Amino acid sequence: MKQFKIWDSHVHLFPPEIYRNWDRYAVRDETFANLTRKPANGKGTEEAWVDIEESLACAQEAGVHGLVMQGWYWNDAGMMRLHNDYMAEAVHKYPDRLKGFISVNPKFGEEALAELERCKDMGFSGIGELGPGGNGYDFEDQDFLAVLDWARVHDMPVCIHCGEPVGHKYPGKDMTSLAPLPELIKKSPDLKLILAHMGGGLPFYEMNPRYRKAFGNVRYDMAANPLLYDIRSIRAVIAMVGPERLLYGSDFPLLLYPSKCRRADFTLFLEDIRKNAGLTAEEESRIMGDNLLEFL
Ligand SMILES: [Zn+2]
Repeated sequence: MKQFKIWDSHVHLFPPEIYRNWDRYAVRDETFANLTRKPANGKGTEEAWVDIEESLACAQEAGVHGLVMQGWYWNDAGMMRLHNDYMAEAVHKYPDRLKGFISVNPKFGEEALAELERCKDMGFSGIGELGPGGNGYDFEDQDFLAVLDWARVHDMPVCIHCGEPVGHKYPGKDMTSLAPLPELIKKSPDLKLILAHMGGGLPFYEMNPRYRKAFGNVRYDMAANPLLYDIRSIRAVIAMVGPERLLYGSDFPLLLYPSKCRRADFTLFLEDIRKNAGLTAEEESRIMGDNLLEFL
């Protein structure tokens, strides 16, 4: 069995400047405030704020080699730039263990494209996580499509937050219709996409023979899976799309088992996967690391 390194394809590492001064920054961005406010009763999920070094130590302890820092869907351009600068510096400092995706809000229009230009030689590996619901656009929006065009021209993968269109309500629930995505994917076969949170259920719909072949450049991640689905969903997605297009990702440092553990942690989800997802050794090496490195 060849050795593989575990890469988490979906973590969010915010600048300490922002979370240490949460009150001051939260008033600038209502979506950020709503998604990261501490639960009043001390229960339920929340961001367990940690900086780069703490995250890397936590990863190492769990046997996770590398982290892909996803950006955030800021509604404040200053916070977007601050976050991008923070991630660029981190990648520069730990090039072997960190990769970063550029934060961008397509609704900033020209300013969004200017931010992509500013960041393009700063060592980033992709763009995202885009959050349509959090920034108020849908998958037919011209500004969103302009960002995808930029990504295609620069051969950068784009990670998009996909919400499941059914189920319980929670802060951050994104009901943006996924309906335009299959057609969009079919029209842009060379666009590399990571559809987060198991694509909000899209793996099932891509089994439609009209679309199936067009999804070769689409990957799904399992970020926040324990908060959304039974662990058997991992096996189900493999059955539908194969083990080549699923990426391990956690949404760290979001608490994934809030009633069991209230600090930043990679181990519980990894244990759950190892014990209960029923992966073969070959599937494990692909999903936990190799798929991501090949894709990027
Ligand atoms: Zn997300």
